[in-house]
Amino acid sequence: MSRSLDRSNAHYQRAVKRLPLGVASTFRYWGEDRTIYVHHGKGARVWDIDGNKYVDYRLGYGPAILGYADDRVDAAAKRGMEVGGVFALSTERELVVADRIAKMVPGMDLVRFSNSGTEAVMAALRLARAHTGRESYLLIEGSYHGLFDAAMWMVNLEDWDARSNSEPKVVSYSKGIPQTIRELAHLTPMNDPQRLEDVFRKHGNTLAAMLIEPIQGNCCGISASREFVQLARRLCDQYGVLLIIDEVKTGFRVAKGGIQSLLGVQPDIATFAKAMANGYPIACVAGREEVMRTFRYGGAAHGGTYTAHAVSLAAAEECLRILDETPALSTLAAYGESLKAGMSRILKARGIVHSFTGHPSMFGLFFAATPPDNYRAWKLSDYSFYDAMAAHLHDECIICEPDSREPWFMCEAHDASCLDDTLKAFERAVDRTLEGLSAGPAGKELIGG
Ligand code: PMP
Repeated sequence: MSRSLDRSNAHYQRAVKRLPLGVASTFRYWGEDRTIYVHHGKGARVWDIDGNKYVDYRLGYGPAILGYADDRVDAAAKRGMEVGGVFALSTERELVVADRIAKMVPGMDLVRFSNSGTEAVMAALRLARAHTGRESYLLIEGSYHGLFDAAMWMVNLEDWDARSNSEPKVVSYSKGIPQTIRELAHLTPMNDPQRLEDVFRKHGNTLAAMLIEPIQGNCCGISASREFVQLARRLCDQYGVLLIIDEVKTGFRVAKGGIQSLLGVQPDIATFAKAMANGYPIACVAGREEVMRTFRYGGAAHGGTYTAHAVSLAAAEECLRILDETPALSTLAAYGESLKAGMSRILKARGIVHSFTGHPSMFGLFFAATPPDNYRAWKLSDYSFYDAMAAHLHDECIICEPDSREPWFMCEAHDASCLDDTLKAFERAVDRTLEGLSAGPAGKELIGG
């Protein structure tokens, strides 16, 4: 299929004069001649301004759990519109939605709303600091917890020699992050119990919180083992550290009760966002009563003008009702299983070694026999096949993230026609990638068993 992006390209030239990189979020810029401008979305499909019709597996990085413009959620949002916006006062519906969250996720005794994942995690960290009276915190390498300064620390693997005994340096994700707060952030690799114990032994008494995303929604769906998260829970208890599970991507997606329910681990605080309202901007921080009551005058500050906006809140009420009371989550997980099976069939027929990470509702595709189990392993792996294939998939009108770290997201609206279109396009994209690689050494290494 040859896709034309003439209108998108022309629009980019106009947009870049007014908007940095021609977009509203840096990750939406895919290059001068490959940046897509959307006309509209419906179900699992997106139409761009050139009229190209895509099957979408980014789903806005996860929010459209039921599919775009879901009639049920949109009707609820319209009813929410009639309420009148925000009042700097509360409405009764906040309790209805909080009750639903508490019912779906065990241990989430109390709930506070936010507008985005970033805001929710920022509130969670502040809450942990206020509750413990400590300031530093522990992050897992390869995780992403939002755009606020405290979350924007990572290990620099570009300049790190994996064979050396040294640890990679902690650096900020972005310019503009004050280096003065750097020493508050500690990082440790996923699924490395020894290093986790070491870091607690060294810093446990000064940590306010440990943040973990047990399926790394920003690192190829790399998953924490049950034992690793259970060890984290024990160490947090031992050292008086609050365990924050960031369910911004996994919450109300991998299970009604989130990844914590699948792992059988209860955090002190959890954050939820993406799948809460099928794309309407709402998030929440929730957790153990004693901790959550620290949100009070004289305790941890929390609020915000647009918090619990009537439209988003009404959308959340309906979206969560659907996720709780209908088989939507098993429908989309079953679709994910079918998609993985179809991809495997195509790859196996060509002798291409591959594996999957994550959960069927948000999985990573990986070109090695065993998937990486932490960020260091991902960084040392060869992801050139994925990168080349992603561009061919876009040309075939399948939207996946160009960066192999972002998982493929499923929604309830993905149906048999989406599957059929996707697998046909996938087969062509794989073949075009192989053609492109056949001359180079990477292609030879991939084809094995
Ligand atoms: N936490 C996680 C795990 C995320 O994946 C994201 C966003 N991708 C965030 C926090 C930040 O959420 P938002 O983009 O809504 O601010």
